[in-house]
Amino acid sequence: MSGKVYLVGAGPGATDLLTLRAASLLGRADVVFYDALVAPQTLALAAHATKIAVGKRSGRYSTAQKFINKRLVDAARRHAVVVRLKGGDPMLFGRAQEEIDALTAAGIEFEVVPGVTAACAASAELGVSLTRRGVARTVSFVTPRAANGEPENDWAKSVTAADTAIIYMGAGLSDTICATLVARGRAGSTPVAVVEDATLPAKRIVLGRLCELPRIAREIGSGPAVIILGEVLRQALETQISREKRILRRCANQE
Ligand code: SAH
Repeated sequence: MSGKVYLVGAGPGATDLLTLRAASLLGRADVVFYDALVAPQTLALAAHATKIAVGKRSGRYSTAQKFINKRLVDAARRHAVVVRLKGGDPMLFGRAQEEIDALTAAGIEFEVVPGVTAACAASAELGVSLTRRGVARTVSFVTPRAANGEPENDWAKSVTAADTAIIYMGAGLSDTICATLVARGRAGSTPVAVVEDATLPAKRIVLGRLCELPRIAREIGSGPAVIILGEVLRQALETQISREKRILRRCANQE
């Protein structure tokens, strides 16, 4: 008799954004395999579990995916409740399908528990809806990052086609993103926002225009960040510009 593997979304960071189902499974877990972006307070909910880091931050050490798959299968053969805890939603940019395929091939039962994805967390931080009547009806979630050996993907195509785009794992590639999108016809004046560490105390938001993206991205730190792009951000950008102008006028008057 094998146990069951739960692929659980840990959400964007803040522990109280976990679903009740995720929290209850963590409380019942025998083993938890967790990603680098999972907050320590979230992990602490798995009071009785053995906790194993299989973290992935781009460019840093990560446990090979095949090895993670094997460890999940092995753990399910020994334990009743195995939790695979992933940042955000497990089914977006989380290699969940590779784990699901490995579990299916080994005849292990699994269940997916959704989580709040970074795009939704960033939109909440900005107070800007990703869709808006008359402005944005299509939203695209993309990443320009490809794993070693993975075929190139035309991520820019869906960014140029969508009204609003959320770019995951892209903050370190802002020069390429900016140059590619402008070359593909997206206006350099398109409003953009970079949101780092959404829902966490260290959160940072920088607004600007697509042509300024490389400079904007340099303003943020080394935390996880998404780039949001689209006309839905225009009002927020204009509000910021008028606030800055007011401050500059006030400073000039004091001189
Ligand atoms: N499955 C996750 C995405 C994993 S890929 C989800 O659904 O959110 C990791 C990328 O997600 C990061 O490089 C960053 O682009 C984004 N991300 C994750 N947490 C974030 C946060 N708190 N704030 C901003 N972006 C975040």
